[in-house]
Amino acid sequence: MTWRRALPLLLLAAVALAVPVLALAQQPPLFETKRITDNVYLFRYGGHQSMFVVTPDGVIATDPIAQRRPEAATTYIAEIRKITQAPIKYVVYSHHHYDHIEGGKPFKDAGATFIAHMNAKTRLEALKNPAVVIPDIGTGTLHAIELGGTRLELHYVGRNHSDNSLVMLLPKEKLLFTVDFIPIESLQFRDFPDSFLPDFFDSFDRVLALDWDRMIPGHPYAGGRLGTKDDVRAAKQYMVDLSDAVRQAQLAGKCFDTAMKEIKLPKYETWRNYDAYLPGNIERFCEFWGGGF
Ligand SMILES: [Zn+2]
Repeated sequence: MTWRRALPLLLLAAVALAVPVLALAQQPPLFETKRITDNVYLFRYGGHQSMFVVTPDGVIATDPIAQRRPEAATTYIAEIRKITQAPIKYVVYSHHHYDHIEGGKPFKDAGATFIAHMNAKTRLEALKNPAVVIPDIGTGTLHAIELGGTRLELHYVGRNHSDNSLVMLLPKEKLLFTVDFIPIESLQFRDFPDSFLPDFFDSFDRVLALDWDRMIPGHPYAGGRLGTKDDVRAAKQYMVDLSDAVRQAQLAGKCFDTAMKEIKLPKYETWRNYDAYLPGNIERFCEFWGGGF
């Protein structure tokens, strides 16, 4: 083959090689650990995030985020070990949903005490999922962990995305860790499975009443940034606007299917999963307003 005939083939080969290389360059790494303050870190693995606190007397880890990927938990521990050799004293579950808490066994094997809200402990004891470590301790409205000069408060702010979400507050650092019930610039997941209305609305107010500046979420929303109180207000306002729109549609006899097709909330169309989840979000409020569920 002459070079003239080979040239287009060579160009094609170059393009074919460049495309995956470029695509790889744009992909975020599979996991990463970010230092948020002197002693607080965010661990992300794929699309899930967890917080851990390092003190001279030990480490407080949170959700293992290792559902169907045990390597996420061993990577989590390896990331902690890059920072400290102090014992992992605690694992705190944000709530009982499996995508956040499966795969904690390596933490148990390392000697950690597992803590969750008492409703999560009761639920997990009944469900007997072999991939979930059953909590040793079930908490109530407020539980505080004091370790190596750091205080971590576990606040129960009522029923929302589950009946057992714990909000984790570091009062000195004014940092909050919340999972799933306050998405940042994102719609709620599908039809809010396992959610509690209208209690959900009160949860936002109870979170706003706590003293904090920055919020670590359980998923990397909005480019992976931390949240603010304005994000909590916006997440609540979205629910209020959604609820009002569905209430009107329900009164006009449009629930479920017509409402799910017709209702639009253009104020939120730039939010993540607007097209994918809006019909499910409407369905949930049709259940609430139309059926009292
Ligand atoms: Zn959840």
